[in-house]
Amino acid sequence: MQVVPFVDLAAQYRSMQQEIDDAVSSVIDDTAFVRGPYVEAFEKAYAEACGLQHCVGVANGTDALYIALTALEVGAGDEVITVANSWISSSETITQCGGRVVFADIEPGHHQIDVEDLERKITPRTRGVVAVHLYGHPAEIERIADVCRQNGLFLVEDCAQSHLAESGGRKVGTLGDIATFSFYPGKNLGAYGDAGAVLTDDDDLARRARMFANHGALRKHDHEIEGINSRLDGIQAAILTAKLPHLRDWTEARRRHAQSYDRAFAEVDEVTPVAVRAGADPVYHLYVIRTPRRDALRAHLRERGIATGIHYPTALPLLPSYAYLNHEPRDFPVASRFQDEILSLPMFPELTGEQIDRVTESVVDFF
Ligand SMILES: *Cc1c(COP(=O)(O)O)cnc(C)c1O
Repeated sequence: MQVVPFVDLAAQYRSMQQEIDDAVSSVIDDTAFVRGPYVEAFEKAYAEACGLQHCVGVANGTDALYIALTALEVGAGDEVITVANSWISSSETITQCGGRVVFADIEPGHHQIDVEDLERKITPRTRGVVAVHLYGHPAEIERIADVCRQNGLFLVEDCAQSHLAESGGRKVGTLGDIATFSFYPGKNLGAYGDAGAVLTDDDDLARRARMFANHGALRKHDHEIEGINSRLDGIQAAILTAKLPHLRDWTEARRRHAQSYDRAFAEVDEVTPVAVRAGADPVYHLYVIRTPRRDALRAHLRERGIATGIHYPTALPLLPSYAYLNHEPRDFPVASRFQDEILSLPMFPELTGEQIDRVTESVVDFF
């Protein structure tokens, strides 16, 4: 039986093995392990790719959020609103800063933060919003930016799953005050270990982020504040620089695979793919469908050697980590229902037509 993996990082390595190996050995030859030219080169290239002025390479996407929120001076008593369905980094970093997490529900079509619920959650203590572009689908970022402007709130864009996605012709990360990215190996642009970045057009925020991430110092031994040690290392930076020129093609491949899935599922009433909002140009970090018979479908696919995932099995407010907020499923009617219906199908640029056919045929068979 031919197995269809959920992602295949080895296939991508094989497609550019010499480039990766050369990148790694030059960093070793130059002993440029921490900071230095490889990190600077990647920061410059990635800022340009995203259409933003500053890029600060950091250790991972979670630190990127923590550093961004710290640069925005989130502290005790500050409420920050984020979305009920995401990876826990989007909310745990608010708490790390001493802030209070406030969740908003998701919208049932495109599964992103429900902007009306977000508005309802604003109180006099609200300082800002962490908007997430989940699955590579842009959130309604223009509307969110308007709400933030009208209410004097900051806007952080968590772009960990949405490298180069666009909304209304603008790249994600360019409408908020500050954007954060993850380069975890399985992300659309992935390192060979942990890596992340903070991007912004704001000189002051960039300066504070860079300083905080580096022990509170912009120059060696000149510690203006206490900070943390969170940096992108040279080997990861060199690998990311080698991969970046391929990102556009990889994204196009993901879009083609999504179209093939969409076409096949158009005839299956029980399968509802995440909707693409008008004006949105998603990058399909994940291809997510919704079906009332999720667990049975998942077992059927597993029997046929097809790997799937669930993103995420429990909405954030209903996790034990947020029991102290005393939420019930009915507080988040959409996210709490969808957590039992969502299923992520294999999605990576190197998927073959044969693999896609196996997935779609197996889904269609099941129903
Ligand atoms: C992956 C991810 C992060 C965290 O990134 P790490 O590099 O794993 O720390 C944050 N937010 C979202 C939405 C993610 O998917």
